[in-house]
Amino acid sequence: MQQIVLMDAKIIPLEFNKIFTQKIEAEWLQEKNIQLDVLRLDLLHPVVSGNKWFKLQLYLKVAIHLQKTTIATFGGAYSNHIIATAFAAKNMGLKSVGIIRGENAMNSHTLKHAALLGMQLYFVDRNEYKNKESLKSMFDQPEYHWIDEGGYGINGAIGASTILEFLEDSYTDIIAAVGTGTMLAGLIMASNATVTGISSMKGNFSLEDAVRKLLPPQKLSTSFKILHDFHFGGYAKFNTQLLHYMNNIYTQHLLPLDFVYTAKTFYAIEHMVKNNTFCRGSKLLMIHSGGLQGNQSLPVNALSFL
Ligand SMILES: *Cc1c(COP(=O)(O)O)cnc(C)c1O
Repeated sequence: MQQIVLMDAKIIPLEFNKIFTQKIEAEWLQEKNIQLDVLRLDLLHPVVSGNKWFKLQLYLKVAIHLQKTTIATFGGAYSNHIIATAFAAKNMGLKSVGIIRGENAMNSHTLKHAALLGMQLYFVDRNEYKNKESLKSMFDQPEYHWIDEGGYGINGAIGASTILEFLEDSYTDIIAAVGTGTMLAGLIMASNATVTGISSMKGNFSLEDAVRKLLPPQKLSTSFKILHDFHFGGYAKFNTQLLHYMNNIYTQHLLPLDFVYTAKTFYAIEHMVKNNTFCRGSKLLMIHSGGLQGNQSLPVNALSFL
């Protein structure tokens, strides 16, 4: 089974024409006279799904401009950023190198997949991993173009800002999951809607500053919100309630969510709507930022839609 999935990643092309906005019909929305659409970036590709592709585009162009032949970056064993970098680099005719947190993590489907896409993997222990600057100097080669963990940076945000080019409608609010805050900065740059981020981490209150650092001067006074109460125990943590919720949402709306980011975001939206966070008549857009490949790390049969 895994072999087949691995082969698919190489042959399935990116399908931009599959991206669309899905209208969600539910009583909890109707009662408050609120519209909710979901921008289905997950449909771009079964493995590279979502925001990572957009965040990487400008970095890759810069690398080619600088005549670098190899993209080097960092990530964990199940990182969406690692697999997307491996794919995007290969797609552009570049080599890729991944510095991976934790020794001997080769049992991860994500890393097997990245290796199959030609990414060279190096494992470092968790302590060493913390100091990115020292890792960079340890592994650096003249042909390397480095991208920060998670694709954090201004070029990532500019890349992410193009996500909104897929919209046909305008919205009062845009809601998206937050990891590094790069996508959120891109959404704030490109839109006049009120942008709300749902943090995937527990108590990472430096995110607001991380987002602000990426905004251009004319957007610095724009207010945005990051909510820190929907992490379900912390980054990549889950419980049976969350898995149950994901299965229900899939049954009711045919909307597959990932347990690290988008399930928590959808849950947060439902919670906020029910608690009157948004005015009646609001038009909400949730960004489905992808990440579905990460669901393969869940116990077998945990989800009804894998
Ligand atoms: C990486 C990721 C995010 C977070 O994006 P940032 O730009 O790092 O905030 C959100 N959703 C999914 C599915 C992701 O893979």
